[in-house]
Amino acid sequence: MNRIFDNTEIAFSLKSDSELERAYFLFKMISIEPLVRIGTAATNFAIKAHLPIEGLIRSTVFDHFCGGVNEEDCLPVIDKMYQKGVSSVLDYSVEAKENENEFDAAMEKVLKIIDFAKALDAIPFAVFKPTGFGRFYLFEKLGRGEALNADEQEEWNNVVNRFDTVCKKGKENDVAVLIDAEESWMQDETDNLVTAMMKKYNQEKPIVFNTLQMYRHDRLAFLKDQHNDAKVGKYHLGYKLVRGAYLENENERAEEKGYKSPICKNKAETDANFNAAVKYMLDNLDCMSLFAGTHNEESSYLLMQLMNEKGIVNNDERVWFGQLYGMSDHISFNLANKGYNVAKYIPFGPVKDVMPYLIRRAEENTSIAGQTGRELALLSKEKKRRKLL
Ligand SMILES: Cc1cc2nc3c(=O)[nH]c(=O)nc-3n(C[C@H](O)[C@H](O)[C@H](O)COP(=O)(O)OP(=O)(O)OC[C@H]3O[C@@H](n4cnc5c(N)ncnc54)[C@H](O)[C@@H]3O)c2cc1C
Repeated sequence: MNRIFDNTEIAFSLKSDSELERAYFLFKMISIEPLVRIGTAATNFAIKAHLPIEGLIRSTVFDHFCGGVNEEDCLPVIDKMYQKGVSSVLDYSVEAKENENEFDAAMEKVLKIIDFAKALDAIPFAVFKPTGFGRFYLFEKLGRGEALNADEQEEWNNVVNRFDTVCKKGKENDVAVLIDAEESWMQDETDNLVTAMMKKYNQEKPIVFNTLQMYRHDRLAFLKDQHNDAKVGKYHLGYKLVRGAYLENENERAEEKGYKSPICKNKAETDANFNAAVKYMLDNLDCMSLFAGTHNEESSYLLMQLMNEKGIVNNDERVWFGQLYGMSDHISFNLANKGYNVAKYIPFGPVKDVMPYLIRRAEENTSIAGQTGRELALLSKEKKRRKLL
């Protein structure tokens, strides 16, 4: 496959010289692990102590990885990216909420985003996180097969209603809805609920998309089972394929509680599993749509190559590539330049509420060997090309 991702002129065409310098500085900082560790602790403390650090966070990590504090703030970014062929998925990234009002507010946000998406071609999907709509504990308890008490059952009915309200609105407005995956010990109940939504709303085409974390060794078999059920039930499947973001938590919990970790033995096994799922889904596009959420170049090239071999046109509406805003622009913008469907998740929300998301990004960039180094090498190449060095 032609190595299109090496083109940094296309990759960073939206970045001014100063934005390029800022991105370089930022990745340089988060490549230093002790700095991220100390920075994370200091930031958590400062937020709890109400110290005035929001300005500092905004002008550094926040502006790089987020579109703004509300959806309107994100519009200029959405517009600019769409001019280069890159679509947006507005991600209300407020996490770890615990009460009914906050869950309702999160649902209202997603409903509003579906209205946005209906009006704007630049937003092809809505997205939400299951624990944005209900307490983690409820998903976990049901997943263990335990009965809920009367109060919990009432709470759970609200969770189901929130899922249903969003998926129904997605269907009515022809806006697909991506549902994120989280820790494995709450995922079973998410899967049950999302599968029920697919049965209800994916009769004609995939509107509801679940997420498969391919670092789990059981997910390929799960995908095949779901495929068999969908054939019998005559509905479509939509899946976002990712490798998975909770590796450390998963392995630590499994060790602590003494069960076999659900995670693949090593990175190579995860890679093989991810690529096998890409292939399986492409072989079955008659009843499936694929959203490949990855920053991995080889998996992205593989998907391009398989599409080519199968005669699937670059902009086939059943195949999407996805990256996160602030990361892997070399993949997103070069793919869009070749006419592929690409969407970037744009997180937004009040600064203190998106901190868990930002910390995950900083830690991920620190811990995954290669990713930060790759961003730095590409930014540096572009700085040289622009004669900024
Ligand atoms: C658009 C988009 C949406 C996303 N949505 C979700 C979501 O809903 N849920 C979610 O959990 N994550 C989500 N992610 C994050 C994703 O799961 C990955 O953490 C992240 O993208 C890094 O993986 P990669 O494929 O980009 O690349 P790579 O850098 O090639 O892979 C890194 C990943 O490989 C896996 N890995 C690393 N080391 C090992 C090891 N020793 N053994 C086994 N596996 C290993 C881990 O999953 C790690 O994150 C999303 C990512 C994107 C781009």
